[in-house]
Amino acid sequence: MLTSDLISASSTLSRSIGTQKFSSVAFDTRILKKGALYIPLVAARNGHSFIRDAINKGAIGALWNINESVPADIPESFQLYFVEDTLISFQQMAKTYRDLVNPIVVAVTGSNGKTTTKDILESLLSIHGETFKTEGNFNNHIGLPMTILSMPSNCQYLILEMGMSAFGEIELLSNIAKPNLAVVTNIGESHMEFLGSREGIAKAKMEITSGLLDSGRVYLDGDEKLLNPYYSNKVVKIGVEKTNDYVISKIEPKLDGFHFFLGEEPFKLSLLGRHNVKNASICIALVTELGFDHKQIQAGLSRVSLTGMRLEKSIGANGEWVINDAYNASPTSMIAAIETIKDIPDKSKKIVVLGDIFELGEQEELLHRQVASSLVAPITDILLVGEKAKWIYDEWFQNHRIDSINVEYFSTKEEAESSIASKVNNQTVILFKASRGMELEQLINQYQQNR
Ligand code: ATP
Ligand code: MG
Repeated sequence: MLTSDLISASSTLSRSIGTQKFSSVAFDTRILKKGALYIPLVAARNGHSFIRDAINKGAIGALWNINESVPADIPESFQLYFVEDTLISFQQMAKTYRDLVNPIVVAVTGSNGKTTTKDILESLLSIHGETFKTEGNFNNHIGLPMTILSMPSNCQYLILEMGMSAFGEIELLSNIAKPNLAVVTNIGESHMEFLGSREGIAKAKMEITSGLLDSGRVYLDGDEKLLNPYYSNKVVKIGVEKTNDYVISKIEPKLDGFHFFLGEEPFKLSLLGRHNVKNASICIALVTELGFDHKQIQAGLSRVSLTGMRLEKSIGANGEWVINDAYNASPTSMIAAIETIKDIPDKSKKIVVLGDIFELGEQEELLHRQVASSLVAPITDILLVGEKAKWIYDEWFQNHRIDSINVEYFSTKEEAESSIASKVNNQTVILFKASRGMELEQLINQYQQNR
């Protein structure tokens, strides 16, 4: 029998194949730990060629594609498990391990806010029990099984981020994870080039229900009309409109964060960004239905800490607030970040540094141009960097120009540095936002050296 059959038959509570137990699994020999099972994946490079590295680092076994030749010098004590496809077997192991540990699995998808929502959920759930979550952005067909196989065997809540760029991807992830509960944060425009339209994006996100357990529930943005066709008795709607199951109201930005109500209950969230009130409200609804009370929920909200570069605030040498939101961007999240800057009390000079947004497909010019209308007072300075950001500049100049706002365009980051350095003072809040490929966060260090 092929090892893949053994993997699904494995029944002990560990990462194991047959009777052999492993301390962990790894597909990257650089981070492989002693006692691990090495999983050579075939991607840009062929992981099979790193087997000696894996053995030297202390791996005690490896999956092995049957069509790959086996090097002659593999020690006899080292166990190779032959499979038809190492990736599929790896995903199968994750599935088996998920069922053995059997935590409450919460799957999180959406165009924006997945990582943020995952981090908020972790703060809330970990008050109650052993909680494990996707590290950083490990949200694809490799990262998700890796996360599952890394959870401790006493895990009670497993929070899994699910990302995608095409149809079928979330379906695969959902069928591996078999979520008890699912979250859809919002529907934006990311990956439009593969999904055609926002309706397509909604459909692809709702694939999260394909592996959902029969008793499962989906918590989603009830203000998003594109999700209407997916309503069922499993859906819980959260949003500002009165038709939602959980209604958000009285949102007030204060110096210590946002104060708001969800239903009849008051909450406080010390994160920046009005959109995070909805992300948090979705999490509150979910844990409320798990039986958490108001005091526990507020305690959880008060200790939320986010993964880096998501509206990450630091204080610059001139006392300015630097808001690094340069992890990634879509038009929706760029507008959300601009609104965040407008909301910040007590800083009168509000500078936004915006760069290109990638992967928007045929409508990229239009979608960039749509950002321009949000660039109004109290924003005081608009700095645009990169080839595509030029569309925002042109649109603003042609149709939204306001004399009291200073606007500048730079084709490269290098050109922008000194202009930024000359503008900041202790009355400033400055936002950095663009797609990952722009690496706009480099400007933060550079302008600070340049002052
Ligand atoms: P990725 O697809 O890159 O993994 P993500 O969905 O995990 O992204 P985050 O990393 O949490 O999202 O946030 C990305 C950006 O989206 C940040 O700029 C954040 O401020 C913004 N954002 C978060 N939630 C929302 C929301 N509900 N609506 C609009 N923008 C949001
Ligand atoms: Mg993410």
